[in-house]
Amino acid sequence: MECPASDVIEVMRILYQKGLITVLSGNASVRCGNHFLITPSGTPKHKISELALVNLNTLEWVGPKPSIEYRMHAQFYLKSNFKAVVHAHNPMTVLLADVKPELLDPSPYVESRYAIKRIGVVERLEAGSEELALAVGREVEKGADVVVMKGHGAIAGGKDPYDALNKIEALEYLSALAIEKLKLRSQT
Ligand SMILES: [Zn+2]
Repeated sequence: MECPASDVIEVMRILYQKGLITVLSGNASVRCGNHFLITPSGTPKHKISELALVNLNTLEWVGPKPSIEYRMHAQFYLKSNFKAVVHAHNPMTVLLADVKPELLDPSPYVESRYAIKRIGVVERLEAGSEELALAVGREVEKGADVVVMKGHGAIAGGKDPYDALNKIEALEYLSALAIEKLKLRSQT
């Protein structure tokens, strides 16, 4: 069973370096059969060394305390065949979801069109809550591979941690372009 913990750790470092998460926000996981390995809670994201192993069915874990969003990751795996999940607090997407959520559409740009199949959007719900996890799960069930949470961030599923990271990057790219376009329009 392939379960690349080192890829999860590397993806967190990249998210932090690219400004897609702050030092104590965001999380990533990889599926290992009926379990998933997820980043721990409270550790600076650029220096994670150990992951928590969570049982997908019982949600019991071994190792360090998992990220508070572990239920959201579990929902992603339970409602899809994705092998890895990445959650970021990417700022342009959070902004676009507030001002023009209808522009959260991957189709206009090559980057996002090839990376993302479908973007779901959920309303403001408490971070780490079961309610939020279930709302994300419902979007995944409808075919979303990326879910944007208003006032919070985005979560993406992929075939491995880099594929999920690529979706987050493509999402942030399309959001940044959409916001620049809105700004240009408002000036003319
Ligand atoms: Zn979060």
